[in-house]
Amino acid sequence: MAVTDEPLADLALSRSSLDRVALERRRSEVLSELLEDPRTRVAEIRGDRMQVVDPGDRAAPTAPGAPSAAKASGQDASRACSAGALGLVLRAPQPEDRERLVLHLGRDGDGTAYVGVVSPGPHEDPAQPGWLTLRQAGEALTRRDAGLFTTGLALANWHATHRFCPRCGAPTEPTEGGWVRRCEREGSDHYPRTDPAVIMSVVDPDDRLLLGRGAHWPEGRFSVLAGFVEPGESFEAAVAREVAEEVGITIDAARYLGNQPWPFPSSVMIGFAATTRQTELTVDPVEMAEARWVTRGEYRDLLREGTVRTPSGISIAKRIIEHWLGDTVESVTGGTSPRW
Ligand SMILES: [Zn+2]
Repeated sequence: MAVTDEPLADLALSRSSLDRVALERRRSEVLSELLEDPRTRVAEIRGDRMQVVDPGDRAAPTAPGAPSAAKASGQDASRACSAGALGLVLRAPQPEDRERLVLHLGRDGDGTAYVGVVSPGPHEDPAQPGWLTLRQAGEALTRRDAGLFTTGLALANWHATHRFCPRCGAPTEPTEGGWVRRCEREGSDHYPRTDPAVIMSVVDPDDRLLLGRGAHWPEGRFSVLAGFVEPGESFEAAVAREVAEEVGITIDAARYLGNQPWPFPSSVMIGFAATTRQTELTVDPVEMAEARWVTRGEYRDLLREGTVRTPSGISIAKRIIEHWLGDTVESVTGGTSPRW
């Protein structure tokens, strides 16, 4: 991997391969039909977890990141697995599914339908083997299953916090395959929301990268800057505003790099590479604990020493840093660098 101007490809959570069948979702009977069809594949969502399995290991689930995989303790599940090494546990519909929140997640190329079924309440036992979070499993899942988990989690998060109508306060009920909530009193429709956030490398005339540590982050945890897009604001304007707010510098230009959904709980991250001629940093203490410029050589040394922790493997932040570095973090550290 070399320093490049190419956009980011194959971001972990942007890999969905399913047709989202938006027109099919509108039919009021679609979910009951899918739940009567034994060919429908059901993925259960418990809290923020789904059950994963290693397709090559029928004795699973002993997925990495679960307590049984002690050697992966504290690391991303993906550390031990490449993309496609894990799959979701999928089953046929069960009668009890009708009593739960059901989400039509789409169809694949052969017409197979996939639904998410949301268990009520939080997942009781987060340590149960094989039940992983998207942060743990996302990088290692197949394309299809990364898409199912990302979309299912984003929708489930939205339903959990939008049970009442924002217009009149009456209860809302899910409809249209789980993609709309309708007000019981006045019939108004409410759609799942996605909150855009920009995230950007900032590079100075000496090709140094700006790294920041958030106000409440532990020592050694550094990333590129990021922030939510405000109402009435373009992505590029948000990049410029966030950099100015957090470190007090003006950027000259920002180039789009790529984006991916980030359902923690409801964002999409839009990545940019920005340049500046200003190097004097004025850190906003409300947002930032510290900020610093690093050369590629300095960053490699910090990684090898273990004094800098890189963002999660599924994050666009890590990919943006690697885009600047011209190398993967793992190839610098030999895979031993601690992550968040
Ligand atoms: Zn209402």
